[in-house]
Amino acid sequence: MANQQIKNERMEAIVSLAKRRGFIYQGSDVYGGLSGTWDYGPLGVTLKRNIMQLWWKMFVDSRDDMYGVDAAILMNQKVWQASGHVDTFTDPLVEDMETKQRFRADHLLKDAGYSVDGLTLAEMTKLIQDNDVKSPNGNALSDVRTFNMMFTTTVGPVADDKSISYLRPETAQGIFTNFRNVVDAFYPDLPFGIAQQGKAFRNEISPRDFVFRSREFEQMEIEYFVHPEKWAESFEALLKDTHDFLTALGLPAENVHELEVPENDRAHYSKRTIDIEFDFPIGREELMGIAYRTDFDLSNIQRVAGKSMDYSVKGTNEKFIPHVIEPSFGVERALMAVLSSAYTEDEVNGDKRIVMKFPAHLAPVKYCVSPLLKNKPELVAKAREVYELLKKKHGNVMWDDNGNIGKRYRRQDEIGTPYCVVIDFDTIENDGLVSVRDRDTTEQKRISIEELIG
Ligand code: ATP
Repeated sequence: MANQQIKNERMEAIVSLAKRRGFIYQGSDVYGGLSGTWDYGPLGVTLKRNIMQLWWKMFVDSRDDMYGVDAAILMNQKVWQASGHVDTFTDPLVEDMETKQRFRADHLLKDAGYSVDGLTLAEMTKLIQDNDVKSPNGNALSDVRTFNMMFTTTVGPVADDKSISYLRPETAQGIFTNFRNVVDAFYPDLPFGIAQQGKAFRNEISPRDFVFRSREFEQMEIEYFVHPEKWAESFEALLKDTHDFLTALGLPAENVHELEVPENDRAHYSKRTIDIEFDFPIGREELMGIAYRTDFDLSNIQRVAGKSMDYSVKGTNEKFIPHVIEPSFGVERALMAVLSSAYTEDEVNGDKRIVMKFPAHLAPVKYCVSPLLKNKPELVAKAREVYELLKKKHGNVMWDDNGNIGKRYRRQDEIGTPYCVVIDFDTIENDGLVSVRDRDTTEQKRISIEELIG
């Protein structure tokens, strides 16, 4: 319990820093907020993009077996009928009998210490009734029923059954629907993957834990097409690539865990699924998943759309629907893992400091440049020169001449700026060297401007 309390204090400290320093705000905050939505401020959007660009670089740009796509968010309703989402993309819902507030039944049961793996709705209802499990408000709960998490909308001026569409609940289907297009245009050898990043929407019954469970979020997904008999080796290879990516995010290996999902919890078509869990301040939770999906999705498209999803192996008569390995990452969960791994409280010269120890390649601000004193024009002019040079090279460089130098360092530590560059009188009058202070060690070195820019 005490441990949980500390963990939640840590979470609160991260959420408060994220707001105070311009990383993440509650969505529609000025109107009282909209539950499950979050807005990214100037530092948050850069951090998020750095994570997404790193993923794209590692999984797409640096490989010759991956093809990127960017599909529309609104898709033909048949996509979601064929994929099974219209019928089965549901969560178990219970209602507080007094307040009518709604909750995820499996979450309430888990919080009360019960295992819910593989339970039917009726079994969850029985578990609630037999053990008198109450709502968080202390009231009795209704029977458990299903709730479809897709947001429905209509496309075009006439709202009828035919115009129904959905905000996509995953990016994966936008990949599968483009399988034929990519094969026809590029004819890649197997195995190959199609990757996509973008928004996904789920009407979560109870969004919670900061951005961890949001109603609007981003995914980074790959459908990796393989010969049906060779799925296992690609699964292992992608699992290793996933760990390499998590290491590049700066996540400590001891906080990353593989959960081999047992057969009764896997989708019926999947022969293997691994959830990668992470020790978040809220506890150990799913960060991403990697699943072997057989030919389930492409076969469904072939059946419902009536178009062949066969792949012909070049130079042979062999023809089949490829099988698929799907690594599926959530951007917000990756970002929350990065924030919680970076958040550090330590002491410098007897003063408590908060420092975000982001890996330098993810830090939203790479350098901060300041003149030692802001009322000395010669220092300001030189510092401005260095600032312009660094900005041209790195983009994410900040100018800060407010307050004394100690306060500037503290401000930059809080947003995780790896290097602070200071121009002082020695720079101008003596050696031409600038002082560069390291965020983590707080040590300062004097180096030439050429070396700094180089
Ligand atoms: P959970 O069991 O936590 O609801 P899930 O198993 O339904 O997640 P998937 O459908 O496998 O999730 O989605 C793939 C990834 O998308 C997840 O591993 C997670 O990183 C991310 N994700 C899913 N739902 C959300 C959400 N509501 N908010 C933020 N990220 C999410």
